[in-house]
Amino acid sequence: MELPGVSASPGIAHGHAVVLKDTTLPRVDGPGQSPSTEIARFQAAVTQTVSELVQLQQKTRRLLGADFAAIFRSQQTIAEDDDFRNSVIGTIHREGCRAEAALYRVFDGYRALFEELDDGAYNRSRVSDVEDVHSRMQRILLGIEHPDLTDLPAGSVVVATELFPSDTALIDASNVVGIVTEHGGATSHAAILAKNIGVPAVVRVTDVVSTVSPGDLLTVVSTTDEPARVFVNPTGSQLDVIHRTEERLTRRQGMINTFRGQDAVTTDGQRFTVSVNVGSTQELQPARAVGARSIGLYRSEFLFFKQPVLPDEEIQYAAYRDAAAAFSGGFVVIRTLDVGGDKQLPALPAPIEPNPFLGSRGLRFTLQHPDVFLTQIRAILRAAADYPVEMLFPMVGGVDELDAALELVEDAKEQLRARGHRYNAVIPIGVMIEIPSAIWTADALARRVSFFSVGTNDLVQYLMAADRLNGEVEAYYRPFDPSVFRALAHLCRTAAEFDRPVSVCGELGGDPLAIPALAGMGVSGFSMSPSSLADATRVIRKSTATEMKSLAEAVLRLDSQGDITALLRQHYNAKE
Ligand code: PEP
Ligand code: MG
Repeated sequence: MELPGVSASPGIAHGHAVVLKDTTLPRVDGPGQSPSTEIARFQAAVTQTVSELVQLQQKTRRLLGADFAAIFRSQQTIAEDDDFRNSVIGTIHREGCRAEAALYRVFDGYRALFEELDDGAYNRSRVSDVEDVHSRMQRILLGIEHPDLTDLPAGSVVVATELFPSDTALIDASNVVGIVTEHGGATSHAAILAKNIGVPAVVRVTDVVSTVSPGDLLTVVSTTDEPARVFVNPTGSQLDVIHRTEERLTRRQGMINTFRGQDAVTTDGQRFTVSVNVGSTQELQPARAVGARSIGLYRSEFLFFKQPVLPDEEIQYAAYRDAAAAFSGGFVVIRTLDVGGDKQLPALPAPIEPNPFLGSRGLRFTLQHPDVFLTQIRAILRAAADYPVEMLFPMVGGVDELDAALELVEDAKEQLRARGHRYNAVIPIGVMIEIPSAIWTADALARRVSFFSVGTNDLVQYLMAADRLNGEVEAYYRPFDPSVFRALAHLCRTAAEFDRPVSVCGELGGDPLAIPALAGMGVSGFSMSPSSLADATRVIRKSTATEMKSLAEAVLRLDSQGDITALLRQHYNAKE
């Protein structure tokens, strides 16, 4: 069987399907079997829960460190708590109900208790802990299989409706060879994860979750010159054709890989910075392996996902310092927490918003939680004491929120001074250019910060008013639209007046078709998935600064995405 889709990360992969079904648990009620049978079911679920939590502690210790593992230790304590167990057993006896129903009643009681006691972030994290234990037990009682993302078999192709940051934070990337999703686009979390760990991904594959069975042999074909597709249990003749394409791609990739680790400098001597985007601890190693020297975008959110408690200053400091130590020859740009929109923190749930992408996201969210923000700023300032660490604010729309954030940076410095901690008092601070208003106030922003980093994934969705995750409006989400290039040209002109460097860290910044035109407009840095680094370096090394400038001028005269893509492809093909 052959399922069509959209290419989100290039390559061809063969592996076995691991299917993530939607995990909304049905609420099961009604009378049970005999109380003794229901109690035995409940006891077995407790044993299984504890055993899963012990395993999770071992794995998270390996992936994220001892402090994170402690979170699952406290969940184990909840599952083993005598009062809790006696309450469930008592409810089964009293009401003659199913174990699932008794569990709901007891957990509803806990939830009400916590709500009454509500005294801030600590309590909310306890509620999330309790909820997590509850859904684990319900899932076990209901016999719903949920693949353990932290422990995937080697050669897994992950198949899901959609992958969220909370899934990708703990995924065992070393055993994933491909990703297939029903929703999403080139800038969805699944696509970004796939590119960052260097595996092919095909998105928008209709009904793939119900079509594919766990263990099916899948071949993911995601190339730029053929329509992307997924073969389910491919036949011998299909495999022969795929193998020929694979050989061709491997030869080409071999040629591209010879540019790994080289300086990104044009033949007439103009130098550019190429760096990588990192969204989890596991992505540090692939980034080193491709010869990256710097991290242009460290998406710090992953430290905050999955865990029902917020990472404290020490955990964050250790994570930032470790990343910076691994890239001490270059620089590391740490973006402050960028949640809201489709990214929800388990430890700090935000209210449901009718229009989340236009709601409390990024800097707006952290300004609403100054304690959380200050903790992170302190950790970044401390990591910057010994390493070239820079700080980047996401979702800046203008000087009001920027000034508020900069004031908090001063407060954080004051707190560190009072505590006698070492920190970098002159850390470079930059803003992400993701909201169109930031482009039109770039002069005012430039007076306050030292660099700009363009998040084209969001900038395109806000310029075009097309949700980056909504496949229905994919045709309107146009990264190569004239408006995108014209907006960036305006930004570069303003930034140049203030001598502020502009880099691009959205997906456009790793697109070898777009790079020469962006460079010609004045972009001086490109940050991207590790898998894009070698080709980005190659196109720069094969161009002259003069021709890139003319290319940019030609692009700015064109009327449509189609015309711009054709011109950029022509330039790219000429560099083979
Ligand atoms: C962007 O918007 O381009 C960006 C880099 O941020 P994210 O993809 O994490 O929203
Ligand atoms: Mg963004």
